[in-house]
Amino acid sequence: MENGVLYIVATPIGNVEDLSPRAKRTLDEVDLVLCEDTRVSSKLFSKLGINTPRESFHQHTEREKLSRFVDRLLSGENMALVSDAGTPTISDPGGKLVAEAAASNIKVVPIPGPSALITALSASGFPSDEFTFLGFAPNKKGRNKFFANLALIERTIAIYESKHRIIKTLEALPQDRRIVVARELTKMHETIYRGLPADVIKQIESTSAKGEFVIILAPISHELKAIS
Ligand code: SAM
Repeated sequence: MENGVLYIVATPIGNVEDLSPRAKRTLDEVDLVLCEDTRVSSKLFSKLGINTPRESFHQHTEREKLSRFVDRLLSGENMALVSDAGTPTISDPGGKLVAEAAASNIKVVPIPGPSALITALSASGFPSDEFTFLGFAPNKKGRNKFFANLALIERTIAIYESKHRIIKTLEALPQDRRIVVARELTKMHETIYRGLPADVIKQIESTSAKGEFVIILAPISHELKAIS
């Protein structure tokens, strides 16, 4: 029997209309969808009328369970991997599964779509021919070192942040570096803040902004006039 295929399917980061027709068809046609959180994906799937069976696959999924999924792929089942939002494996679970599938000669097919990182970068106006993506800043251990290192990275930098720590993180950035903060992308309260960290902090505090954020730092050499 032929091996199944593992599809890595990007899902909306807010606006349901951003799910591509190819992503929808793939989610409809596979035998099983592996979800970071089945409850989160079920909300999206019920809006879209997708009834495919689903099982959870997250960062704490044990090795045995991962191996069972690989065995099922090897026995011919087709599977899709989705995260709660955006592109799976980008600061999200699934990297080990992809690596294991590839090592077992299972075909891995990415179905591209939304990612908060690229969406924010595309609206930043900062150079993006090359950039450094750092994911989330560490919560405790290594946090000071993380922020000290930013000053050593000359190119554009992208960081993910949640509503809980956005102000703390903005305060810890190099204060002379222009930033763009993209909040709630593709959602009703989408806002793009621009300026020095202190300006953006004021703007965010004045609107008691909540939500999810991507922070983009301009490269060290960036001209102020380029984004004003
Ligand atoms: N894999 C996802 C992707 O490709 O976008 C990212 C997953 S990561 C666990 C979640 C983080 O992505 C959030 O804390 C936030 O930094 C960012 N994010 C996700 N959705 C967002 C949105 N609609 N607006 C702004 N940032 C978002």
